[in-house]
Amino acid sequence: MENKINAYNNILELVGNTPLVKLNKVAKDFTGNFYAKVEAFNPGHSSKDRIANHIIEEAERKGILKKGSTIVETTSGNTGFSIAMVSIIKGYKCILAVSSKSSPDKIDMLRAMGAIVYVCPAHVSADDPRSYYEVAKKIHKETKDSVYINQYFNQLNADAHYKSTGPEIWDQTNGNITHLVVCSGTGGTISGTGKYIKEQNPNVKVIGVDAYGSVLKSYHETGKIDQEEIYPYRIEGLGKNLIPTATDFSVIDKFIKVTDEESAHMARTIAKTDGLFVGYTSGAVMQAVKQLSEEGEFTKDSNVVVIFPDHGSRYMSKVYSDQWMEAQGFLNKQAEEQPQEIQF
Ligand code: PMP
Repeated sequence: MENKINAYNNILELVGNTPLVKLNKVAKDFTGNFYAKVEAFNPGHSSKDRIANHIIEEAERKGILKKGSTIVETTSGNTGFSIAMVSIIKGYKCILAVSSKSSPDKIDMLRAMGAIVYVCPAHVSADDPRSYYEVAKKIHKETKDSVYINQYFNQLNADAHYKSTGPEIWDQTNGNITHLVVCSGTGGTISGTGKYIKEQNPNVKVIGVDAYGSVLKSYHETGKIDQEEIYPYRIEGLGKNLIPTATDFSVIDKFIKVTDEESAHMARTIAKTDGLFVGYTSGAVMQAVKQLSEEGEFTKDSNVVVIFPDHGSRYMSKVYSDQWMEAQGFLNKQAEEQPQEIQF
């Protein structure tokens, strides 16, 4: 008798097709209907699985990658984890050049996923041969049959979302989406998803979320980079101090900026109200939606889709640590409900 086992062949078959979840409590005071595309359901727990898988498959299709080839990138974040994961399954070597600013936890996580990690000094300029950009470029140049993912400047980044995230959201909303609100870092998610959705219905409003300290919003409005807008901020993964060519600014109707503090509190709120344990930028996108609602952007018939890019477990020593929140001066202003101490 045939042994019929219902199993996936490997975890890469689980990339994409993430659920769209109605936001009930966190958005109850906002005008409109709100739905989150929860990207933590990807096997690598973030939207970056989509781009890692797509870029690597395209390189295979073009014959650049062969068994044992090397994949190179410059991130300690979600993209690094996803590339490491795809490399394991497909049998490639993964080399990540990361900044010494990266937390030891993150570096350990990448090494646990089989990546070779070069920790490069954070204090040098981008064109210094010791910088992680230059180290990655050198490894790529000197390694035969290697692929440099280069997510900020790779058009396949947005293409991954054009081919997967966009069609999924269009189908899940049966075309009834009115607004798409997305955090913009490389801009791959908003550009690819937004382009697909606008091709189906040009009236859908595509809104990008940017950080104070980043230049994306002002560049979109003026076409110029204002150096005075650039200063350090804490949210990881959105905003930028340069203009990534992976971003297609023409599909974005407008940007809205959010603060580190309000975004952090919003992430914590989403976990407590809707039971969704999400990352810092999910808090940022929800904070943006709150501001847009207050500005009168939505009507009661609006169907607003937000993308929650990753899982809260990556932020245990940041947004979900009371000590970290306190050290940033975030806990005092907005008193949170703490459980009463039990007296024995
Ligand atoms: N949120 C998080 C946590 C991310 O890692 C990223 C990627 N930098 C983004 C949002 C933004 O996505 P994208 O790069 O596609 O604009």
